[in-house]
Amino acid sequence: MTEFIALMDSQPWLFYSLSFIFAATIGSFLNVVIHRLPIMMKREWQQECHDYLEHNENIKLDPKQLKPILSALRAPQDGYPAKYNLIVPGSACPKCHTAIKPWQNIPVLGWLLLKGRCGHCSTPISSRYPLVEALTGLLVTVLAWHFGATSAFAWASLLTFGLVAMTWIDFDEMLLPDQLTLPLLWLGLLLNLNGLYTDIYSAVIGAMAGYLSLWSVFWGFKLLTGKEGMGYGDFKLMALFGAWLGWQMLPLIILLSSVLGAVIGIGLMLSKRMEQGSPMPFGPYIALAGWIALLFGESITQWYLASLA
Ligand SMILES: [Zn+2]
Repeated sequence: MTEFIALMDSQPWLFYSLSFIFAATIGSFLNVVIHRLPIMMKREWQQECHDYLEHNENIKLDPKQLKPILSALRAPQDGYPAKYNLIVPGSACPKCHTAIKPWQNIPVLGWLLLKGRCGHCSTPISSRYPLVEALTGLLVTVLAWHFGATSAFAWASLLTFGLVAMTWIDFDEMLLPDQLTLPLLWLGLLLNLNGLYTDIYSAVIGAMAGYLSLWSVFWGFKLLTGKEGMGYGDFKLMALFGAWLGWQMLPLIILLSSVLGAVIGIGLMLSKRMEQGSPMPFGPYIALAGWIALLFGESITQWYLASLA
């Protein structure tokens, strides 16, 4: 292992190339997570509805009315197979159900070789798949350049995988799954026990302050306007970055995410990809701002403080 790290240190371009290929391959799996995790979560909620209706004595429904509801809730309503998780069933064309061959699963290249169409029935395959793969590869290559072959690089890559999945799920579903935000939050605290990114005091206070900062904005906004401008997932994501980077980075992340959200939101509206007044997820902008703070937070704050003096 130490020999491998020494080799990576002495051959940066080899290190960058391997990082890109490895991360793009993980990106291919992230496409699966982005598509399937929300479906799996909805099935869980449906199951919970079923169990609640079945066992709660406070609901005074005629058993004759309840019975068809319960039997409808017992079966998945989403059109996907009964056994459905991140591994099973294997990837297949949504139209003709032909299984994806291993070579077609090669990140980015597989899609290019297929010219963006199913090899069997020529149904177009969304360009989002190679895009997520290329982006994941690129982000991790930037981490490799910034951190070198260190444990800070390895853990930051894991965080980046989580952030990529969260960003697309939030765009699709307006939802940041607890299954992604919470384990990464705890991981940040754990890593900072040894001060990997910040000291443990800054991390613990950061997690709490991160959650509370958006929580209070949420309630202030709700009391003033009666509207909900954010979701609880956003608070947890901000807590995550507090845990990883310390409370000192929170003002920068909040500022940067608001600016990014405004700029990209206006851009999407102008290009007619989004309707005015339609709800906009905030998670992707927090994720991007936090990721920038992970790499350049120190330099940005120092530059800012220097410009004040
Ligand atoms: Zn097909």
